[in-house]
Amino acid sequence: MIPDSFKQELLNRVDIVDVVSPRVALKKAGANWVGLCPFHGEKTPSFSVSPAKQFYHCFGCGAHGNAIGFLMEYGGLGYVEAVKELADEAGMKLPDLPPRGGGARPERAGPDLYELLQRAARFYHEQLKSSPRAIDYLKGRGLSGQVAARYHLGYAPAQWQGLGAAFERYDDRALVECGLVVENEGKRYDRFRDRIMFPIRTVQGEVIGFGGRVLGHGEPKYLNSPETPVFEKGRELYGLYEARAGIRDEDSRSSSRATWTWWRSPRAALRKAWPRSARL
Ligand code: ZN
Repeated sequence: MIPDSFKQELLNRVDIVDVVSPRVALKKAGANWVGLCPFHGEKTPSFSVSPAKQFYHCFGCGAHGNAIGFLMEYGGLGYVEAVKELADEAGMKLPDLPPRGGGARPERAGPDLYELLQRAARFYHEQLKSSPRAIDYLKGRGLSGQVAARYHLGYAPAQWQGLGAAFERYDDRALVECGLVVENEGKRYDRFRDRIMFPIRTVQGEVIGFGGRVLGHGEPKYLNSPETPVFEKGRELYGLYEARAGIRDEDSRSSSRATWTWWRSPRAALRKAWPRSARL
């Protein structure tokens, strides 16, 4: 894991305006910079970057965060990936992380489950784009493409080994360990099949598990990741990352209520977290 002190130093070193401006055309407006929001379609700028606060904020869709959050959201990156990219841009060297693949790996390090989960999230998200049935389902439930993109919703294809397309080694023990693949009497298959996928993230934005909802009338209606080394149910406020980014103009009590609702009923929480103007 990346030490908090490194993250702080990195955020102190970079200027969020330098991070955003190569990716979004910005104009100076008073103390801030404004531009067209990259996270929702708009014709008049409601996306604002504050050099003083080192935050970006969109008054249209509620997107909000610091330089790391921007890279995650803009590039669909995981937390560690975003920190790496930012460190690269700032010319800072990342502290020693457990080496990946091959070489003399310390025995304790093990596979990076976060990376596997992030890759699965990306795969599910891509699958959603090519599944008219899943898209229709979301539309029917009142969720727009913007919401799907913003919350990185996905679709697990109706295949027994759909994840085989996302990972070189479907027989990798780590896929079972992070709850994506089920092993039963010597057979392996995807835990989530033909389901709308809701990534569950930590406050920092790292994917630690999934909630999957059936499209039709199958059972169970909601299927969640099992407890894994990175996903300890009840320990964290799941959805806080999304809720925090999405909730505006609400007091803290209703924020935390929305957070919990998100976990139990993602759609209800989305409606709560999403500004009325941005909903379809
Ligand atoms: Zn926006």
